[in-house]
Amino acid sequence: MEASNRILSLSASPTLAMAARAAEMKAAGIDVISLSLGEPDFHTPEHIKQAAKQAIDDNFTFYGPVPGFPALRKAISGKLLKENGLQYAPEQIIVSTGGKQAICNAVLAVLNPGDECILPTPCWVSYSEMVKLAEAKPVFVPCGIDTNFNMTPAQLESAITPRTKAIILCSPSNPSGSVYSRAELEALAEVLRQHPDILIISDEIYEHINYIGEHHSLAEFPFLKKQIILVNGVSKAYAMTGWRIGWLAAETWVVKACQKLQGQYTSCSCTIAMKAAEAAYTGPQQCVADMCEAFRRRRDLVVRLARQIPGFEVSVPDGAFYLFPKVDSLFGKHYKSEKGEQTIKDSDDLAMYFLNEAHVAAVAGSAFMSPECIRFSYATSDELLTEAFTRLRRAVEKLY
Ligand code: PMP
Repeated sequence: MEASNRILSLSASPTLAMAARAAEMKAAGIDVISLSLGEPDFHTPEHIKQAAKQAIDDNFTFYGPVPGFPALRKAISGKLLKENGLQYAPEQIIVSTGGKQAICNAVLAVLNPGDECILPTPCWVSYSEMVKLAEAKPVFVPCGIDTNFNMTPAQLESAITPRTKAIILCSPSNPSGSVYSRAELEALAEVLRQHPDILIISDEIYEHINYIGEHHSLAEFPFLKKQIILVNGVSKAYAMTGWRIGWLAAETWVVKACQKLQGQYTSCSCTIAMKAAEAAYTGPQQCVADMCEAFRRRRDLVVRLARQIPGFEVSVPDGAFYLFPKVDSLFGKHYKSEKGEQTIKDSDDLAMYFLNEAHVAAVAGSAFMSPECIRFSYATSDELLTEAFTRLRRAVEKLY
């Protein structure tokens, strides 16, 4: 007996796989520093936890409406207006089990088999697998460190074909940490304006972890409004990864399609988590700014430390909590192990070398379709980051 072809064609999440291997080594007593997973190390703010406890006492324990509680959809609509200047009625918003489900809903709701979906790379590991799940075709557009990992309008234009149905853009980006400026988005918007049938899935999950002080999105261009599917959630901004609340805002037909899909396979998101998310959006926002400030300090720290490592080419990330150095000058180098001389052929070998030699877990850039790079999450303490990058430097210095 075997799993379906649909499942056999999917890759397992490499970030989760690396985290699992690091956890195994930790369980065996090895002092592994894990810089592989993308989640804030902060605890969920107290007032949000209180709202969840209250929700239990108030018996929010029954099924809720599939697209989310009206109060939460209203709170998200309010957030979009206040923070982003965007007008979305609560009916244009659907709450899902994490931004992950929101994106997967959107992909499954709009792509037909054979449709093409443009993915500028490096990109988050799950986009291509979701597109494959929809039996559509991911079209990768490689963007390198020379453009700060951002796609140019010319690249976008040349990736568009008559089969293009959607594009997924992520800013601030996982894994590169790069952020599109308003001017860069405007140039992309002008291209997309010429293609009104292309849907734009704008993944803004790292909106609030942004060091340039302002967040911009393709949703700001009114002439693209009908094309935009804006995805966001509470995981990163409010340190709520385990609560599993994300959402999308779009034209009503997209929301209705997602609702139909979600109604058949997960129903509403966790009601208690939805009440907590409502408190996140309607409560004090200082916690968000405080966490962003801590990430900025760590960003500065890891950029400084990584630049001391020979062979690491480091661009300064403007958002998210990842460092994505270009490391291909280390490919072809050797090290000695008990099995004899070994060669680092690619970023997978390098990530494995770092895990075994430095006991630092990272994720190879190949997971994000940028095999010349490697990703380190810096969502951990300054002490651990300093120790990790010191170990990495020593490990690289051993290569010959
Ligand atoms: N988009 C990107 C780019 C991400 O990195 C993540 C989380 N790793 C998500 C979406 C999904 O986040 P969640 O499901 O926790 O809301």
